[in-house]
Amino acid sequence: MTSRIERDALFIGGQWRAPDSAARIPVVSPLTEQEIGSFPASAATDVDTAVAAARTALRRPEWAGLSPIDRANAIRRFADELDKRAEQRATTVTAQNGMPIGLARFAEGAAPVQLLRYYADLAESTPIEEQRASQPMPGTTIVRREPVGVVAAIAPWNFPAVLSMFKIAPALAAGCTIVLKPSPETTLDSYVLAEAAIAARLPDGVINIVTGGPDIGQYLVAHPGVDKVAFTGSTAAGRHIGRVCGELLRPATLELGGKSAALILDDADIEQTVTGLATASLLNSGQTCYMSTRILVPRNQKSVYTDAITSMVAGLQVGDPMDEATFFGPLVSARQRDRVLSLIDQARSEGGTITTGGHAPEGVGYFVQPTVFADVDNTSTIARQEVFGPVLSIIAYDELDHAVALTNDSDYGLGGTVWTSDQDRGIDVARRVETGSFGVNTYNLDWGSPFGGVKASGLGRELGPEGLASYQQLKSIFLASP
Ligand code: NAD
Repeated sequence: MTSRIERDALFIGGQWRAPDSAARIPVVSPLTEQEIGSFPASAATDVDTAVAAARTALRRPEWAGLSPIDRANAIRRFADELDKRAEQRATTVTAQNGMPIGLARFAEGAAPVQLLRYYADLAESTPIEEQRASQPMPGTTIVRREPVGVVAAIAPWNFPAVLSMFKIAPALAAGCTIVLKPSPETTLDSYVLAEAAIAARLPDGVINIVTGGPDIGQYLVAHPGVDKVAFTGSTAAGRHIGRVCGELLRPATLELGGKSAALILDDADIEQTVTGLATASLLNSGQTCYMSTRILVPRNQKSVYTDAITSMVAGLQVGDPMDEATFFGPLVSARQRDRVLSLIDQARSEGGTITTGGHAPEGVGYFVQPTVFADVDNTSTIARQEVFGPVLSIIAYDELDHAVALTNDSDYGLGGTVWTSDQDRGIDVARRVETGSFGVNTYNLDWGSPFGGVKASGLGRELGPEGLASYQQLKSIFLASP
């Protein structure tokens, strides 16, 4: 992307609105370290206006009064308009966060459109009311699924478009309205989302976007006009939001960090497993929450796996994320690069053995060499803390029970994988793992199945019908007669 992207307004109440603050937030390319654009920083009063617009839209007949089929069709129009802008969205994300373009085309271009279409179908097919015979007294109860209300959706920078859509699509299907706050590193792509919403003629105020960092996020989370918070980000911020929402008795979905394991069984095909680990453990240069970054290998196969994983990692292309052959782009920011390098240094000082990588390469761009630590102890820092960069830790185990115990010996529980030539054995392992999702010889998110974490990885689930249900509240209406 060569030309700068300058945005001057905020998308609030279906209009482009001048911000109440003159402050601007610069966007820096992680590849060139040069500024590539900027956008306005919202003032607290802009958040007030956005929440008020969302509250008004929630009750207006053109949104609240839609039949399931009309709501589904509004969502489908939005999907079609976003589809037309998929390439623009993907390249804008790559320019901001360094995501390899092939991945961005799928995850940030196509996937948000797929999610809207999936939830449009669900909006049409999920009954809003059901009747039940009441007990113990004879009568009838109508159980209604009503929209939870105004949703504050807060997104991180690693997959800004699709993780926003994890929230927006089910919220729209439920009849909610939304105030989205993207991460300051990746806000420019949300302007494309706004343009699609306008072109799709979504009613004014159904989607609103405010800009800024943690301060604006905190202000939005605690805003009296918000009914639910949907957050994806770090565990530290999630704990803070959870405390605030607890005090306010405000429902919150918290999708947080991870430190998942790839459990390689003794019958696994080495080549297929190691090939599969590239995407299961290193997607988006390791800046993906569910990555299997602790690689558990049978002790008697430790050296063969260490060699194979080292050559796989060293063989993947590092470079310009706009080059389709690139697997590892730069990390999102200087701050993130320095965080990853300091964790690598700490692991080194704890006696970790590096078989490839371990440094920032010479030259411009927030790159970190893809790095493998061999012989890692599961109690060491590198095995316990989320790195969020291209760093794998190989941990040897003795027998299966030991491997399952190591997998579960983590503060987190978000993803994970098992690699085996016997799928039934893999499913048996999956049943024993303390996690919100788990893959057998793969790890592919499924729009139709719940996704989320246990332990420090979060609360609640997104995706699937369960994701829709999290934007609905239930009302029981008791009738005296059947
Ligand atoms: P972050 O927590 O710093 O920020 C995430 C978003 O929250 C940003 O928009 C930020 O401005 C905002 N924010 C930060 N503190 C806030 C607060 N106290 N109140 C309200 N808003 C606040 O996280 P990040 O660095 O942008 O993202 C990386 C983290 O996100 C990693 O830990 C990663 O594991 C996690 N993540 C989790 C998932 C998942 O689905 N579980 C997916 C992607 C990323």
